Amino acid sequence: MKAVRVLNVQSEPKIAVVDVPEPERRWPGDVKVRVLCIGLDGTDKEILTEHYGMPPQGETDLTNGHESLGVVVEADEAAALAPGDLVTALVRRPCSDPACVNCRNERADYCESGQYTERGIKGRHGYLSEFYVEDARYLVKVPPSCLAYGMLAEPQSIVEKVWDQVQHIQQRLVWEPRTALVLGSGPLGLLAAWTCRCLGLDTYVWSKPPETSLSAELVRAAGAQYKQAGGGSATDGAGGSGSAAGGGSTGLKDYAAQLGGKIDLIFECTGYSPLAFEAIDALGPNGVLALLGVTAGERKLEIPSDRLNEEIVLENKCIIGSVNASRKNFETGLYRLQQMEEKFPGLLARMVTNRLTMDQLPGIDFGGIEIKAVVDIVPPVQWGQLVSEAAGAAYSFSV
Ligand code: BGC
Ligand code: ZN
Repeated sequence: MKAVRVLNVQSEPKIAVVDVPEPERRWPGDVKVRVLCIGLDGTDKEILTEHYGMPPQGETDLTNGHESLGVVVEADEAAALAPGDLVTALVRRPCSDPACVNCRNERADYCESGQYTERGIKGRHGYLSEFYVEDARYLVKVPPSCLAYGMLAEPQSIVEKVWDQVQHIQQRLVWEPRTALVLGSGPLGLLAAWTCRCLGLDTYVWSKPPETSLSAELVRAAGAQYKQAGGGSATDGAGGSGSAAGGGSTGLKDYAAQLGGKIDLIFECTGYSPLAFEAIDALGPNGVLALLGVTAGERKLEIPSDRLNEEIVLENKCIIGSVNASRKNFETGLYRLQQMEEKFPGLLARMVTNRLTMDQLPGIDFGGIEIKAVVDIVPPVQWGQLVSEAAGAAYSFSV
């Protein structure tokens, strides 16, 4: 079968379409999945440009892809899944350290040893191939109504993990959140903004693209407000100049002041690390700042540490990270995507601006992706038929 791999992932990464043996089920509970499509994100780019990826032990190449949508083609009773079921897959797998309580309790997203693996990212091949085989414990059933956008369950699970953590943390006080600010309007920023709208929050998005851009339009279409980040370089984050929370920086603090200063929740989705520190300043009292971007670089900056420390203490500010996610977050994510589609019909589809085939990947220019790229392993017009065939049923789906 065909698979897309990053060759020499740790030395000179290069994408190629390769021929690899079709995987087979080996254990009870193993499920064979035919892949329909794979979403690409910033991590896929970092694997190519920043040496972020790691091949399986003893190998040099890594199959890409961690945002998946597929259809079950083979499963046994132990799997509790049947041919024709749509599925997406968790990314992270537990470490083997007996002392890692979280990995031992199905919470590899809170792995303590750091020895976890991630399919398509760290130490395990991903899903960007015609088929994959996976233990049913790591598969999540996707409702047929999500056929067109089920591959977004993975990025949405990261947003859900934030909301899940926030609900636990904010039990520390009486919390009536009203205002959310999202930094960045890439796929994760848009999903975060639409989630905040689903939660009934007044939502503001601060990001680099102009007010006339598609991202800005998609923000406004869900009833959120969009503000173009001013100043800064064209290549960094939401328009950052490299100084965090100090004078003359990106202007985030001024923007937050214009909004009345009482921002209850901030999603940092640019992955531009200086903004993470500026956002502490922009956050309102008792608020939560959630960081979602992975930064593999070596950037350093000076921060007004006394002031930030004092604000965190005196105003009970809380900072959390959200990486990967557990089954529960995937399931809530799928529910939320359906809610978004109901409230804001068509926005999820409009976010997918670039559709590619596997053969187009070796020449991919990540800079040319307008918002979100999806690789179709099977052309979408054939998905419905394929699902029906796998299920051996006469019902039909359309995308
Ligand atoms: C993925 C996560 C993963 C993270 C760090 C993100 O792009 O969505 O599943 O944990 O990268 O590797
Ligand atoms: Zn662990």
